[in-house]
Amino acid sequence: MNATVDVELAVIGGGPAGLAAATLAAEGGASVLLLDEQASPGGQIYRNIEAVCDRRPAIAAALGDDYRGGLELVRAFRRSGAGYRPRASVWEIAGDGALAVVGDGGAEVLRARRLLVATGAAERPVPVPGWTLPGVMTVGAAQTLLKASGLAAGEAVIAGCGPLVLLFALQSIAVGAPPRAVLLSEGFGDYLRALPHLPRAVGSLDLLAKGWGWLRQLKSSGVEVVTGVSAVAARGGSAVDGVGFITGGGRRDIDAGLLLLHQGLVPNGHLLRAAGCAQEWDPAQACWRTRRNSWGATSRNDIAVAGDCAGIGGALAAAEAGRLSALDALYRLGHIGRAARNGRALPMAAALRRHLRPRPLLEALYRPPAEVLRPTAPDTVVCRCEGVRLAALTELRGLGVPGPNQAKAFSRCGMGPCQGRLCEATVGRLLSDEPPLAGRTPQTYTIRPPARPVTVGQVAALDGLAEPAGEVSGMLDR
Ligand SMILES: Cc1cc2nc3c(=O)[nH]c(=O)nc-3n(C[C@H](O)[C@H](O)[C@H](O)COP(=O)(O)OP(=O)(O)OC[C@H]3O[C@@H](n4cnc5c(N)ncnc54)[C@H](O)[C@@H]3O)c2cc1C
Repeated sequence: MNATVDVELAVIGGGPAGLAAATLAAEGGASVLLLDEQASPGGQIYRNIEAVCDRRPAIAAALGDDYRGGLELVRAFRRSGAGYRPRASVWEIAGDGALAVVGDGGAEVLRARRLLVATGAAERPVPVPGWTLPGVMTVGAAQTLLKASGLAAGEAVIAGCGPLVLLFALQSIAVGAPPRAVLLSEGFGDYLRALPHLPRAVGSLDLLAKGWGWLRQLKSSGVEVVTGVSAVAARGGSAVDGVGFITGGGRRDIDAGLLLLHQGLVPNGHLLRAAGCAQEWDPAQACWRTRRNSWGATSRNDIAVAGDCAGIGGALAAAEAGRLSALDALYRLGHIGRAARNGRALPMAAALRRHLRPRPLLEALYRPPAEVLRPTAPDTVVCRCEGVRLAALTELRGLGVPGPNQAKAFSRCGMGPCQGRLCEATVGRLLSDEPPLAGRTPQTYTIRPPARPVTVGQVAALDGLAEPAGEVSGMLDR
C-alpha cells in the first residue's frame, strides 16, 4: 500500500482527451499512467462503452453512432501499453509532481515528471425553485444511468437548453421510454443572437445539420416540445409531482414525477485551481477556464490541460487537444525534437480548429437564461450541500459581505462534500455588483484539497506527503 509509482506522464481523466493523449504518449515511448474515477475507460460521452457495446447492443444502438464511434479510441488506448488505474480519484496535485490519489487500495501518492489534467466537464448547476426535491435530476445523470446500468428514465419532463437535451430526449425515445415533454429555454431572440456566428460555422455544416435534424426528429416524434420556456420550477412536497413554467402562451403546469434539468456544461477545473494554475473568466461560456497555450501548457511548468476541463469544446475537439498536449509532453520529456513535434501537430491543430468552429454559434444560441445564472426566488436553495437559500445570501450581501469566501464563513455555503462546485458561480454572481450580467467577473471560492472526499484514516496512512511531524508529535506529547 502507498507505493510510490514514478512515471514520466500521469494523465488524469479517461475521456476522449485523456485516452487520446495517453495513447499517443505511450506509443511515442513515454511511460504513462492514466488515472480515472470511472470503472472503465470512456469518460462522460463514452461511459461504459466496452460493456454496453458488448452486452447491451440495443442500448448501444439507441445511444447512437457518436457513442459507438468512441470504441476505437478505447481499443487504441488498451493496445497502447499505457498504464491504467480505474476507480482512482485524484484529490490533490502537490507542488512537486506528486498526486494524492484515493482508489481501490486506499490513498497513495504517485509521482510523475509531467501531468496532463483531462478531467472534463460537469453540468452547469440549475438552481431553480424545487431543484433539490427527490425526482429532480440532471439530464446527464439520467443518461449516466442509461449508459452505466441500462436504466431508462421514461415519462420525464426534460427542461433546459443545449445539444444534450435533444440528444437524450431522442435516446430515451429510442429505448422505448419517451419523455412526457421537452421544454426548451431557447427562443426566437436566441436564434437572432446566434445568426451573426453562422458564417464562421458554415465549415461545420454537417454538425449544424445534425443538431437541426435532432430537433425536427423530436418534434415529429409525438413528444410535446415547447420553446421559449422560462421560470421553470419543480413543485411537490416530499418529491416532485409537477413542473411549472412560462411560455409565450402564459403560465403552464405539467404533472410529472421526474424532472430532468440541463443548461450546458462547465469545465471541471477545481483541481487545477487548487494546484495554482491561473484561470480566467470566459464570458461566452459563462464559466471559469484554465489559462493555457495551444499545447495545453498552463501557468505551472509541469501541468498541461486538454479537453473540456480547459473550456467546453466537445468530444472530437477534446481528443485532438489531448493529442497536441501529448506531443508537447513527448518533446519536453526528450522523446522527440521540436521539429517533429511541430510537424506532427499541424493536422491535429487543423482538426481542432475545425471542431471548434461552431462553438461561438452554439454558445450564443444555448446561453443559459439570466434566471438560471442568477436566481431570484428567495427560497431557492443555492448551496444544496449545506441547504443555504438565496434569502440568506441576499441578507449577507446587505450586511456588506464582499465575496464567496466570506459568505462561506458566515453561512457554510460551499463547505459541503462538493466543495462549492455546484454553488460557486451562483454565489459569486449574487455577491457581485449590479447589473447582474453586465460582463462582470464573478468571484470564486478559494479551493483547497481534498478535491474529492477522503477519510482521515486514509490520509493518516499516506507515505510521501510532507510531514508536519514535529508539530503533531509535539501536540501528542503534551
Ligand atoms: C454527464 C455528461 C454527459 C455527456 N454526454 C454526452 C453525449 O452523450 N454526447 C456528447 O457528444 N457529449 C456528451 N457530453 C459532453 C462530452 O462528455 C464532452 O464534450 C467530452 O467527453 C469531453 O471529453 P474530456 O476527455 O474532456 O472529458 P470527459 O469525457 O468528461 O472525461 C473526464 C474524465 O475525468 C474523470 N475525472 C474527473 N475528475 C477526476 C479526478 N479528480 N480524478 C480522477 N478522474 C477524474 C471523469 O470521471 C471522466 O471519466 C456529456 C457531458 C457530461 C458532463
